[in-house]
Amino acid sequence: MLIMSAGPATVGADKLAALAEPVTNTMLDPNYITFHKQTERMISQLVGTESDSFVMLGEALLGLEAACASLIEPGDRVLVIHNGFFGEGFRHFVELYGGKPVMLGMDVRRGVSADALAQFLEKDHQFKAATLVHCETPSGITNPISQLCPLLAKHGILSIVDSVSAVGGEPIEVDAWQVDVLLGGSQKCLSLPAGLSLITLSQKAKRAIEERKTAIPSFYANFKNHYDHLQQKSFAYTMNDGLMKGLHLALQKALRTDYLAEHARYANLVRKTFITSGYELYAKDCQSNTVTAILLPEKLSAGQIFQKMYERGYLISKGVGQLTDRLIRIGHMGDNNQLEYYSKTFVALDQVMAELGHQPIKRLAESWEEQLD
Ligand SMILES: *Cc1c(COP(=O)(O)O)cnc(C)c1O
Repeated sequence: MLIMSAGPATVGADKLAALAEPVTNTMLDPNYITFHKQTERMISQLVGTESDSFVMLGEALLGLEAACASLIEPGDRVLVIHNGFFGEGFRHFVELYGGKPVMLGMDVRRGVSADALAQFLEKDHQFKAATLVHCETPSGITNPISQLCPLLAKHGILSIVDSVSAVGGEPIEVDAWQVDVLLGGSQKCLSLPAGLSLITLSQKAKRAIEERKTAIPSFYANFKNHYDHLQQKSFAYTMNDGLMKGLHLALQKALRTDYLAEHARYANLVRKTFITSGYELYAKDCQSNTVTAILLPEKLSAGQIFQKMYERGYLISKGVGQLTDRLIRIGHMGDNNQLEYYSKTFVALDQVMAELGHQPIKRLAESWEEQLD
């Protein structure tokens, strides 16, 4: 099965080997603790910050929930900036921990407008924090975090950024962009299995946690619990050293090779291929470098395309929520990015489209080859 979905992405052989190495006792082995901290420093390096980063064991949604649990207290007003599924979804975590979400909805087919946010903040800026999404994976849009977070910082609002599908694949400068909480995951552009939440906290975010009036109402979804233990060179609970070895390797790759440029290159090739064949990108601007979403012609069903691709040995993504049957998505993340994977995928997609009675203006496989010339 070729995994070309919008995360989890393909896990390459080098990382599979790291995952299979002998296991130690992470609570007792002094070498492990040194290795773990070193790996966490590499996360900070990757996302452009002097601040500390740490890893929590759990799928990336743990990071999103823990950010809300750790920063939001009952009654806090939180601005939920949304132009898609994950942006809107933050509301539930905010409410779960007693926050009062104020929803700021934007055009779902475009990047969040910095001008619109600036205008909104002129009228209302009494917020403890704001939640936003870096890359809206379900719609293939990368929001201009570099412009949005400084606007929030100007008004003293903490920014909580879901960068799960962007870390490793899109440029990120946590310090320069004044991001307060950056949340990543292992299963997208770092091309590992799901299971790690990557957290980076600014000094301001840490101070806000230290100055809470109430205790964080969770043991597991609790940033303080993590960094307090790390300061003592220990962990809140046993770590997964296999996944951490995989993460170390993935971060080495992301730091040493032209990883970002590769993501941009493949994104560009995939977009141009679909456009040349007459397909419509869902995103009207701010197209993501990690996932491309195609709005299907009326008569086509993403469910049918998914099924027929699956039967041929290809896993691609459908849409999410209301768009489930309207979009197909290709993840150009991490180890998905191999030329031959795309040529094969496009050949299969052409066959599936033909079976479903769709005549593109040019075959995808042909458009793909053209881009490579
Ligand atoms: C993948 C992803 C997550 C994690 O969600 P899952 O549904 O568990 O994969 C969170 N936020 C974004 C933007 C993501 O792409």
